[in-house]
Amino acid sequence: MSASVFFPLDKQQVVGVIGGGQLGRMLALAARRMGVRSVIWTGGLEAPAVECADEVIDLPFDSAEALEQFCAIATVATVEFENIPLKTLEGVRKCIGIFPSPEAVGICQNREREKNFLKENDIPCTEFRVVEDVDSLAKAMAEIGGAGVLKTASFGYDGKGQLKIEGGEDPADVWKRFGGGRAVLEAWVPFEKEISVMVVRNSDGEIKTYDPAENRHREHVLDVSIIPARISEKTASKAQEIAGQIAEAMDYQGILGVEFFVNEDSSLLVNEMAPRPHNSGHHTLDACATSQFEQQLRVALDLPLGSTKLLSPCVMLNLLADFWPDETEPPDWTSLLGTEGAVLHLYGKRRAKELRKMGHATLLGDDVEELLTDVRMLKDSWLE
Ligand code: AMP
Repeated sequence: MSASVFFPLDKQQVVGVIGGGQLGRMLALAARRMGVRSVIWTGGLEAPAVECADEVIDLPFDSAEALEQFCAIATVATVEFENIPLKTLEGVRKCIGIFPSPEAVGICQNREREKNFLKENDIPCTEFRVVEDVDSLAKAMAEIGGAGVLKTASFGYDGKGQLKIEGGEDPADVWKRFGGGRAVLEAWVPFEKEISVMVVRNSDGEIKTYDPAENRHREHVLDVSIIPARISEKTASKAQEIAGQIAEAMDYQGILGVEFFVNEDSSLLVNEMAPRPHNSGHHTLDACATSQFEQQLRVALDLPLGSTKLLSPCVMLNLLADFWPDETEPPDWTSLLGTEGAVLHLYGKRRAKELRKMGHATLLGDDVEELLTDVRMLKDSWLE
């Protein structure tokens, strides 16, 4: 491990970020703060990251020309979302280092591989069956015997590509409504809470975890994260231990988000993993010694890991598009900006549509219950 690569001009590092969403934007901003340049490969999609980057490659992820350009500019690569073709990631690895590895991204980008990985490594997760047609669905429904969620194996996020079932339905009808494709049927978990742990691991195998975040969703999209999560110390340590085990078992290098269900008896089940910075880790920008974005860059640049210490309790509120009175008109930020300890982050997205993530706010304070009251009042004022 050498920190000498950090600033010398003759060794200028350029972090290549594959994906141009808000996570890429926050990675590029973290890079800039560290005196490191960035290049964003957008995949040809709308990309809020580009205005914060030094260079942009606005071509699809399967473009050979883009791969060549990316590898010529970037000295090291990372990903900001998991749905990138593995062939692209492997192509990048032939030229420069990539963090996390294509193998790790490959596990997390496909629910079937993800679940099998968890099972093989004795990590507690929701009971599941892989299904590919009406017959296998009928068998899986009989075996799981009750309510469940049918989820597409690949390209699902924020509850997309999911169908809740009660258990007594006709499998042929369920399959038709779901729309087919390889999928995983998961048993329904009557959880008490949802939490997540951000864990970072470097090439030396050193691991650090952040305090668990307690997450609340609105129509399957993260609404609010409360940190520290309102769970016992024992449950918090167990979740951190499991997140560390996962990172270890995957030989993971970089920042990884692990989402859990917490049952009534405090037992934990892993729901899913994100091989990148995660929405429930955004508070680390304002409330922790080192942000999740900087940790990702530290691993990629072979710098020492930063402290994950929580400097203040906080609540992170996602600023979803339905707070915008109009597609192009933001809400009135006066009360938010006047709230003691509130920090506003906007992603520069031009149009507010449905439940798009337009930004987030972190509210810092001593008492999360009071912060939740502030959050409720802010939300009510924007939604009225
Ligand atoms: P996912 O995209 O898998 O994270 O699912 C989105 C949300 O749906 C989760 O955060 C849960 O709130 C809910 N959910 C997903 N799977 C289950 C399950 N097996 N049992 C109960 N709720 C679930």
